[in-house]
Amino acid sequence: MSSQPQPQVLLSRLYTGNPVLQLERARALACWLQEHNARTAPLVHLLPELQRAAGVLAERMQHMQLGNICRACATRPGGGCCSASMAANSDVPLMVLNLLLGASIQAQEHPQDACCFLGPNGCLFIVKPIFCLNYYCRQLQEQLLSTEKQALNSAANQVLAQQCAWEEQLLGLVRSQAIPIPN
Ligand code: SF4
Ligand code: SF4
Repeated sequence: MSSQPQPQVLLSRLYTGNPVLQLERARALACWLQEHNARTAPLVHLLPELQRAAGVLAERMQHMQLGNICRACATRPGGGCCSASMAANSDVPLMVLNLLLGASIQAQEHPQDACCFLGPNGCLFIVKPIFCLNYYCRQLQEQLLSTEKQALNSAANQVLAQQCAWEEQLLGLVRSQAIPIPN
């Protein structure tokens, strides 16, 4: 007879495995959360505010034309920061959060050494891994005004604060409930 794994085992599954395996676990967990919404109300209640904060950050990035700056950087030899190794900074909670926010995430195959979450129009995540929110590369430091950097950091910090609160709720739920997370 199979028994439900201990919470510690389930928690470890949230932060281990390659991006494709993590995405599979995230889809299963997102489905479970949607099917048990009466038990997951605190998680769901945090989503609109998170979506709003992520929207403010996206608007700021657009206003500062980060897309153009990053595109110019990424097309230079050795340029760009969305490299394959960065995909390891994602985890199951982040993917679940993005799926619940409506992001369409599929691991991409790239001929070059690019992050598998880099889609044709940029990052597939609505809320990105924490390391991807570090806007301290030399190019941006040189091109953005200090007021712009402050505004960008402030918007990114808002998202991070909401994201951490959401993840805490999720971890609490995993510790206290028998939630099926595939091995
Ligand atoms: S964040 Fe910086 S290093 Fe990354 S693509 Fe943009 S300009 Fe280049
Ligand atoms: S911003 Fe998105 S595409 Fe770029 S490294 Fe981070 S997760 Fe990957």
